[in-house]
Amino acid sequence: MSGLDGIRSIEDLELSNKKVFIRLDLNVPLKNGIIKDDTRILEALKTVRYALDKNAKVILSSHLGRPKGDTADDRKEFSMIPIGEKLGELLNVEVVVFDNPAGKGAKALVGELNNKRILLLENSRFLKAEEKNSFQMAASLAQITDVYINDGFGALHRAHATVAALPSLIKERGVGFLVKKEVQVLDQLLNDIKRPFWAILGGAKVSDKIGVIENLLEKVDGFVIGGAMAYTFLKAQNIEVGNSLVETDKVALAKDLIKRLEARHKKLILPVDHVVARELKANTNSRVTANAAIPDGEMGLDIGPKTIELIQSELQNAKTVFWNGPMGVFETSPFEKGTFAVATLLSKLNRAMTVVGGGDSVSAVKKAGLSDKMGHISTGGGASLEYLEGIELPGLKALRGTVVEALKADPEDSDEDFFS
Ligand code: AMP
Repeated sequence: MSGLDGIRSIEDLELSNKKVFIRLDLNVPLKNGIIKDDTRILEALKTVRYALDKNAKVILSSHLGRPKGDTADDRKEFSMIPIGEKLGELLNVEVVVFDNPAGKGAKALVGELNNKRILLLENSRFLKAEEKNSFQMAASLAQITDVYINDGFGALHRAHATVAALPSLIKERGVGFLVKKEVQVLDQLLNDIKRPFWAILGGAKVSDKIGVIENLLEKVDGFVIGGAMAYTFLKAQNIEVGNSLVETDKVALAKDLIKRLEARHKKLILPVDHVVARELKANTNSRVTANAAIPDGEMGLDIGPKTIELIQSELQNAKTVFWNGPMGVFETSPFEKGTFAVATLLSKLNRAMTVVGGGDSVSAVKKAGLSDKMGHISTGGGASLEYLEGIELPGLKALRGTVVEALKADPEDSDEDFFS
């Protein structure tokens, strides 16, 4: 069973001369209008180029950051204008950034689009209607949409108007190349497993990763648990963790997960030593513990060298590895070594399928210059975790759901200000 069953791909749809609305995830890190990492823009190009080659009238939409609404400050900090400039350069087309994210008033402009001129709608999150999954916002966008394509993998887990409500109004709809690739890779992890299969989980919170542990429990051969998450599991084994981050209310759950793993003869690697310090500060005094216990007054901020060796030896024959979450506070030296060691290990497993699931682990891989050595780097941390949890992502659900054309009435016919 594939997550794409019942969903068409862009290649199955007739695009010529059609108004093709493409929902992308162009949510890139920006600082003072400068794009800090353009991966998501680059990953979106294949689908946009394909639509242009097919002579479509291309309308692009995405969210960007977390604006509070549509204030003057939001328009300054979270505008799509810098992204439009970058897209224009990369695609060699004119990109018109339209100020209304619901496309209200854009009908005439859309008629003038061609393969040298595309439309980029302003940040969809400037409208509260987006996060409310408003059918009125979707109905407005439906006025400028003949064909709907979702290629924004990183936003597929959001039930928002441009992701969920809009495709339920459009009959001609499907996914783009990026979503197709991402979902196919994750399906492989769930259904076509080359063994041994290891999941490496780290990061700050157990609560964020419980669903993935539950769903992968039957599928993996072993878990590596590092980062702050590990301390809740160590506590569950009555090991002292000093002042490390622990989710006290999740200790019982960690105990239960450990028992279930043991019952299924699955491996679990927890840190056997740590890099600890009295405070979390760059270049602070740190030391490596002799074993898994951490005394009061100190906190674990990275996995130690013995743990790194253990992971290296256990995973050397791995055929499939999924990694999400850093092994320590990798943003702050000297607590980055564990995370970089995992990145290096994955880069050397050349006969294995290695999947890095978004967020901080992806930045670590990039910082280490190892991106091209990974099997697949996901553009969506949250979406890939939810997919692996077995949750049907709202963006995919909408693409296979019933089409509700009755709701397509043009909201511009009404005077109501439905977006505020
Ligand atoms: P997440 O978003 O859950 O993947 O968590 C990523 C964050 O976890 C990063 O900002 C890390 O600094 C943090 N983190 C990793 N290990 C630790 C640790 N041992 N103590 C505190 N924070 C940690």
